[in-house]
Amino acid sequence: MIIGAGGVGAVVAHKCASVPEVFSEIVLASRTKSKCDKIAAEIGSKNIITEQVDADNVAETVALIRKHNPDLLINVALPYQDLPLMDACLETRTNYMDTANYEPKDVAKFEYKWQWAYQDRFKEAGIMALLGCGFDPGQTGIYTAYAAKHHFDEIHYLDIVDCNAGDHGKAFATNFNPEINIREITQRGKYWENGAWVEIDPMSIHKSVEYPSIGERESYLLYHEELESLTKNYPTIKRARFWMTFGQKYITVLNVLQEVGMTSIKPIKYQGIDIVPLQFLKAVLPEPSSLGGGYKGQTSIGCQIRGIKDGKERTYYIWNNCDHAECYKEIGAQAVSYTTGVPAMLGAKMILTGKWNGKGVFNVEDFDPDPFMAEIGKYGLPWHEEIDKPLPIEK
Ligand code: NDP
Repeated sequence: MIIGAGGVGAVVAHKCASVPEVFSEIVLASRTKSKCDKIAAEIGSKNIITEQVDADNVAETVALIRKHNPDLLINVALPYQDLPLMDACLETRTNYMDTANYEPKDVAKFEYKWQWAYQDRFKEAGIMALLGCGFDPGQTGIYTAYAAKHHFDEIHYLDIVDCNAGDHGKAFATNFNPEINIREITQRGKYWENGAWVEIDPMSIHKSVEYPSIGERESYLLYHEELESLTKNYPTIKRARFWMTFGQKYITVLNVLQEVGMTSIKPIKYQGIDIVPLQFLKAVLPEPSSLGGGYKGQTSIGCQIRGIKDGKERTYYIWNNCDHAECYKEIGAQAVSYTTGVPAMLGAKMILTGKWNGKGVFNVEDFDPDPFMAEIGKYGLPWHEEIDKPLPIEK
């Protein structure tokens, strides 16, 4: 059962439908059923049922789950729905998966603590929750687990680099849900160093980084949720940072929107009703799922790691490049939705085929990366690696 019919939901539905030996029946449910119907019509499979659901409403989701009895619920709605959907899964003893950690609507703060708190209840119910199985978080954690398993005795420095060198031709648009995206990049940055978090002003640390087949792009240090689980699961890490590229025009427009108050999440009165400026802004910006046509260029996301193997210093860079136009040609999606939806489908396949198995709440790096890494290329996200070469982030 897939919840959410936006940019990512469409990719997950397409990709699951292409693996009918595992996903023999798919229920695609979201707030707006017509969006589910449109995706199902594009896929053209008889195995997809569409439904309407308000995923904030636990009783509604419980009724939907009882009606269809799925083996797994894949949450690709918004981070606000993580906890109500986990509650519905607990009540019906259904496995759960998502691609983004819970955020309360009224505080732009993302942390795993709210979802990790479900550990005992999921364990007792005999079901599993897999958190953050998109690209970042998701594939980046699996890359790190793969590096730790095959290339390092100790990881000391981890830099996750996320470049979107694509051009969608719009004056301003975000590549995933605008509300969530803008909350993420306008909050204070944070990185892990010597056992503690170092906080910085938003976008105040940046440098030019070379990306494979793309070239140099200005990259900004942000806080990203996988840093929280990876520094916990790999305690030898001395420093972990996350970098994302932004064009100058994007930053200029974002600064103006911030300065005039359009990115605020505090409700204001407008003609007698309360509106949240950022939610209003989301309503006037292009939907991420509409950006695919004419989008040119590539994304490049990967992990650059320094550590120790057999007593010697080692560097390791593992990444995927994904082409917007190729994704559009394949399933009508842009590369940011595609790179999120493909690992979500494969993570679901790992659970449904028993390769990733457990009771409780897990992050992706808790499981063996090998079966996932063996298959991700064939589903559209091949990876490349460089061992003991200078790391672009250190240049
Ligand atoms: P979209 O805004 O395109 O889609 C969100 C979908 O969720 C919409 O169909 C929306 O319905 C639906 N939805 C929202 N609220 C509810 C609700 N209460 N009940 C039912 N459905 C609801 O966003 P994206 O597809 O770009 O992103 C989806 C998720 O993926 C987000 O959580 C995002 O953070 C995550 N993500 C993760 C990444 C990763 O690499 N890990 C990268 C990119 C995104 P409606 O159409 O009616 O508004």
